[in-house]
Amino acid sequence: MLRRTKIVATLGPATDDPKVLDRMIEAGLDVVRINFSHGAPEEHLRRAEVVRNRARAYGREVGVLVDLQGPKIRIERFREGPVTLEEGARFVLDAELPVNDGTAEAVGITYKDLPGDVKRGDTLVLDDGRVLLWVEEVEGPRIICKVEVGGDLSNNKGINRQGGGLSAGPLTDKDRADMKVAAQLQADYVALSFVRNAADINEARELLRAAGGTGGIVAKIERAEAMDAIDEILEATDAIMVARGDLGVEIGDAELPGVQKRLISMARTMDRVVITATQMMESMIQSPIPTRAEVLDVANAVLDGTDAVMLSAETAVGKYPHKAVAAMDRVCRGAERQRSIRVSGHRIDQQFNRVDEAIAMAAMYTANHLGVKAIVALTESGATPLWMSRISSGIPIYAFSRSPGTRGKVTLYRGVYPVEFDVTHTDHARVNKEVIDELLRRGVVREGDLVIITKGDLAGVHGGTNAMKVVKVGQLVEPGMGSD
Ligand code: PGA
Ligand code: MN
Repeated sequence: MLRRTKIVATLGPATDDPKVLDRMIEAGLDVVRINFSHGAPEEHLRRAEVVRNRARAYGREVGVLVDLQGPKIRIERFREGPVTLEEGARFVLDAELPVNDGTAEAVGITYKDLPGDVKRGDTLVLDDGRVLLWVEEVEGPRIICKVEVGGDLSNNKGINRQGGGLSAGPLTDKDRADMKVAAQLQADYVALSFVRNAADINEARELLRAAGGTGGIVAKIERAEAMDAIDEILEATDAIMVARGDLGVEIGDAELPGVQKRLISMARTMDRVVITATQMMESMIQSPIPTRAEVLDVANAVLDGTDAVMLSAETAVGKYPHKAVAAMDRVCRGAERQRSIRVSGHRIDQQFNRVDEAIAMAAMYTANHLGVKAIVALTESGATPLWMSRISSGIPIYAFSRSPGTRGKVTLYRGVYPVEFDVTHTDHARVNKEVIDELLRRGVVREGDLVIITKGDLAGVHGGTNAMKVVKVGQLVEPGMGSD
């Protein structure tokens, strides 16, 4: 069985060795994430190019997701290395302190408006929850805190406010410049960090289009207020990321399981794609095997219905990048053997808005009830396979497309596999035969198997899908006998 859930892996120093990247591709990598929080544009461009070259060498499609840094609020740096904060001590976050002048008493901050955003009684969370500061008072540019939970603190650690509500907009000047780099490297997706609402997403998409980019937008759900605006965010975005790192800090870790399930279910219902991210196999940064808890976490995300699971530091800086991909591959397949996730009770009583949507739903209904071996969507924009993949099923969906951008996008869709195929270069009457030949070449069907093919009257037109055909392998009608 093919794996349906997709694997996203973050690139970094640990994946720069081409042999490591090759082994990740062999292990089943679907999408790479290029984290713009670290590194220079030239490095990002080079990494994207290397990935595409290696994928091509393997005859595979690997999608590219650019992750913009966003307004991650951080402390600045310490004069003499890490400091230790004692519980009960006073510690000041000072917007006017020089960048490298931090001490055990005070440190600078990257976001100069932070003092205006916090007040007495707030709790600030540093380094993903390892250190907690209670705000006593704000004096001009200085936030005077009492250390509630102490510990070691080193340069550039992140700051969040418990409960959310920091007002920094999600597109910094750096992100605006980086958007051009994302367009230049032809990112299939651009992820926005710390999204607050639909307007943030619309602005980002306009910037990307203005720069010539065609990629989809991924809204990273990692702020408390994004949860309040989740309906409009889903409406505006192409995909979401359940960004459990920052989200867990803002809403509390105990809320995460429920929120993850809700986000995945809402995304699927609204025909959006969803990535589950952060610390999925964290121990594999150091260890060649995941913990049992990590196995269960990845499997649960699959059972929740996520499109993709993501590796962060596990591959970017870990000791075993390809083993982390292989572990995810294994665990996803195991979870997908659960019958419950292949049964769909979805959309039975819904109205469809478009002809291509109705065809996609009819194809899935037929496929799930007729014992079809494979579904093929001849697609320009990828809309038909997206709709198909929102329905739970164990049947593979092949997106045959001539557009590299569309093939790149579907790398993230659960149960959808991109195939390069130029329908406009194919004799109309021979399309079915060529499609079946391709499936035979891939070894996914045999003589006598049923295959569903969806397509439009006019090949190569967006939103033109208006037909569904059930074909038996080996019994194709001859050209000239109504074979379209
Ligand atoms: P990050 O986002 O890795 O860019 O911080 C993911 C998260 O916060 O979970
Ligand atoms: Mn984050």
